[in-house]
Amino acid sequence: MNFIEIFKTHLNKEIKDASDAEIYYALLKATKDAAAHKARNHSKNNKKLYYISAEFLIGKLLSNNLINLGVFDDVKDTLAAAGKEILAIEEIEPEPSLGNGGLGRLAACFLDSMATLGIEGDGVGLNYHYGLFQQVFKNKKQLEIKNPWIEKINWLIPTDVSFEVPFGKCTVRSKMFDIDVIGYNSGVNKLHLFDIETVDESIVSKNSIEFDKNDVMRNLTLFLYPDDSDKAGHLLRIYQQYFMVSNAAQLILAECKAKGIDLNKLDEHVTVQINDTHPSMVIPELIRLLKLENVKNPIAVVTKTCAYTNHTILAEALEKWPLEYLEEVVPHLVLEIKELAAIIEKAYPKNPELHIIDSKNRVHMARLDMHYGYSVNGVAALHTEILKKEELSAFCDIYPDKFNNKTNGITFRRWLLHANPELTAFIDKHGASDFREDATNLTKLGALENDPAALQELLAIKQLKKTHLKKYLKRMANIDIDDHSVLDIQIKRLHEYKRQQMNLLYIFHKYFEIKKGNIPKTPITTIFGAKAAPAYTTAKDIIHAILCISDIIKNDPEVSPHLNVVMIENYNVTFAEKLIPACDISEQISLASKEASGTGNMKFMLNGAVTLGTQDGANVEIAELVGSKNIYTFGKHSDEIIDLYKSNGYTAADLYINDEYIRKLVGFIISPQMLKVGDVPTLLALHTEIIRKDYFMTLIDILDYIKVKEQMLSDYEDRENWSKLMLRNIKEAGFFSSDRTIAEYNEEIWHI
Ligand SMILES: *Cc1c(COP(=O)(O)O)cnc(C)c1O
Repeated sequence: MNFIEIFKTHLNKEIKDASDAEIYYALLKATKDAAAHKARNHSKNNKKLYYISAEFLIGKLLSNNLINLGVFDDVKDTLAAAGKEILAIEEIEPEPSLGNGGLGRLAACFLDSMATLGIEGDGVGLNYHYGLFQQVFKNKKQLEIKNPWIEKINWLIPTDVSFEVPFGKCTVRSKMFDIDVIGYNSGVNKLHLFDIETVDESIVSKNSIEFDKNDVMRNLTLFLYPDDSDKAGHLLRIYQQYFMVSNAAQLILAECKAKGIDLNKLDEHVTVQINDTHPSMVIPELIRLLKLENVKNPIAVVTKTCAYTNHTILAEALEKWPLEYLEEVVPHLVLEIKELAAIIEKAYPKNPELHIIDSKNRVHMARLDMHYGYSVNGVAALHTEILKKEELSAFCDIYPDKFNNKTNGITFRRWLLHANPELTAFIDKHGASDFREDATNLTKLGALENDPAALQELLAIKQLKKTHLKKYLKRMANIDIDDHSVLDIQIKRLHEYKRQQMNLLYIFHKYFEIKKGNIPKTPITTIFGAKAAPAYTTAKDIIHAILCISDIIKNDPEVSPHLNVVMIENYNVTFAEKLIPACDISEQISLASKEASGTGNMKFMLNGAVTLGTQDGANVEIAELVGSKNIYTFGKHSDEIIDLYKSNGYTAADLYINDEYIRKLVGFIISPQMLKVGDVPTLLALHTEIIRKDYFMTLIDILDYIKVKEQMLSDYEDRENWSKLMLRNIKEAGFFSSDRTIAEYNEEIWHI
C-alpha cells in the first residue's frame, strides 16, 4: 500500500466528510506506519553517535515528516481535491514543549541532518510532560502556566526499554519513549525520551507551574528547567540530569552488549556528544558502569568516547553544582567525581582554575567535560576564538588539540521547504534545485542579479508571505498588522545580552520622530517574540515595557498609522516558521562577544531578510559571506567589549548623564505616558537597572544602532536595490545548512 492508501485506511471515511482533527490523526498514524517500515540508518564501521541534550525543540512534526518521506505534495493535493487544506490540518497539531531556545532547536536540526546524511545517531533526552511553560500576558506582564502537549494520540512510541536509576534516597524505574527521526529521502534514527511511570500531572495546580519540588517520584519529568531559586529546585535539576544521563549510559552499554561489542573498546563504537553542560554527569556515570563491567581502564576509555559542545561564555550559565547537593542526590556518583577531580589536582596543584572541584566545594561541570572528553567545540568562529583566547584559555593551553569550531546550522527542510514553499519554488525555477543535495548550490542564484523580472518575483514572494502572516496572526492571536509595512522582527529568548531593551529604546526614538512630524515613508511594524525565564526579573520588566509602548502607540492615532509594535504571546517554533519568511529586517543586536552563534540569524537570511546586527556570533560569518554592502552592522567590536569588562571601564550612568538624547530615551521608560499605562514599580526598576547597571551595555551602542537602522529603513525604499540585498543573502545562506555542520562534526569528531 502506498502512503495515501494507508492514510485512507486509518481515516476510514471520505476525506470530504472528515474533520481536520480526524485527518490529522489519520495522517499521524500513517506517518508512524511509514517510519516503522523504513530502514534504520546503519553505519558501516559499526559506530554510533548518541546526542544527549536536556532540550529538543523539535517543532510540529507532521509536515516535516511528510516532506522527508517524500509524500507531502501527494498528501496536499489529495486533501485539496477533497476541499481540505494542509495548512488547516497542521494547525491541529500541538507543538511539543521539549525545549527553550536556540540550544534545543539546534539539537532538533542536528537530528534531522544526521538522519538525512545516513549517520547512525540517536538523540537522548527527557519526556517532560509540561515542558517549558506556556507564556500568557496579563496586565501587560508575563504569566507562566503549564503547557500540556502530550495528547492521547501522539508521536511518542512506547518501548519495553526500562532501567533502574539509583539515587541516594530511592531508586526509580524508567520507561523509554521514542520519536522517529525520518531523514530526507533517507533512513530513520530515533529520539529517545526517558520518563518514569510514577510521574503525576495532577500535582501541578491549574493555570500555574507550582508544584511540590521535593516529591521527586511524582515531579521528575514534569518540567524543563524547573525553578531553581531554592535548594529543592537545585536538587530537582540534579535529579533530572542524573536520570537523563544514567538512562543514556545504560542504554549505550545495553546496545553495545547486544551487538557483542567489547566494552574495553567502547570508544571505537560509540561517541557521546554532550550538548552544553546539562548532560556532563554522563562521564562519571559511564566510568562507574564500566567499572562494574570490569573494563580495564574506564577513565581512558570514556575520555576517548565523550565530546563536549560549549554554547555560552556567560559565567552564570556555566553550571556549578555544590558538592553537598550532589552528595545528597547521587552519593555513588560523587565517589567517581572526586576520583576524577583528584587526578587533576595532583597533575596541576598550582592551577585552581583547572580544578573540577573549587575551593568552595562546587563542581564545575564544563571542566569535567574538558578534562575527560576528547573534543571541545564552540559554535561559531568568533565564539570558538573567544573560548580559546579568554574564557577557556587555561584548558586550551593544556589541550590545544581538543579545541575546534563547528559553526551552527539549520535544517533547510524545515526553514525553507516547509516554511517557505514559494521561495523554494522560485529557487527551483531558477536552476538551483540541487540545493537539496548541496546547499551551497544556492550561489547559482547570483546570476539573477541582473534579471529584473526575477528580482520582482522575489519581492512578490516577500509580499505574499507578509499577507500570509497577517492572516495567521489575526486568526491565531487576534493581532492586526499592516502587510504593506516594513517588517522588523526580533524573536529569541528574552535576555539582557540579546538587548531587546535597545530595540525598545529605538521604538521610543521613532515615536518621538513621528510625533515631531518625521513620518516614515513606509509604515514600520516591529514584532517581538520572547519568553523570559520565570525568575529573571529584569527580562520580565523589559516585556512589560514593550507591552506598554505597544499599547501607547496603538491608542495614538497620530502614530499608529506609521508605527506598530507587536509582542507575540508564547513565541515558539510554529510562530517562527510563519514570521521568518515575512521578515524584512532581522534584528541580531546582542552585545558583541555574548551571543555564541545564533541560528535565528541564519533562518532569516535564508528567507531573504537583511540582517541588522552587531559583529557577534555567526553574524560575523554572515557578513563575510554576503559582504559589507549586504548587511547592516553597528556597535563596538568584541575585543573592545572584552577589554571593557576586564577593566571595569563601562559606566552606564556616565553615558546617561553626558548625552542629552540618551537621557531622553531612557527617561521615557518612566514618562507620564508609560507610567499611566504600566506598573510604576516595574518601570522604575527597569529605568534604574539601565542607568545604574546596564551590565550588557545597551547605552554604548544605542546611538550607532539608531543611525544604522535609520539608514536601513531609508535604503528599503529603493525596492530594486533592496531586492538585490535579499537575493545576495539567500544565495550565500548555503553555508548555514546543518547538513554542512553535521558533516563537519562527523569528519572531525565522530568518524562514523
Ligand atoms: C531558531 C530559534 C531560536 C534561536 O534563535 P536565536 O535568535 O538564535 O536566539 C529560538 N527559539 C525558536 C523557537 C527558534 O526557532
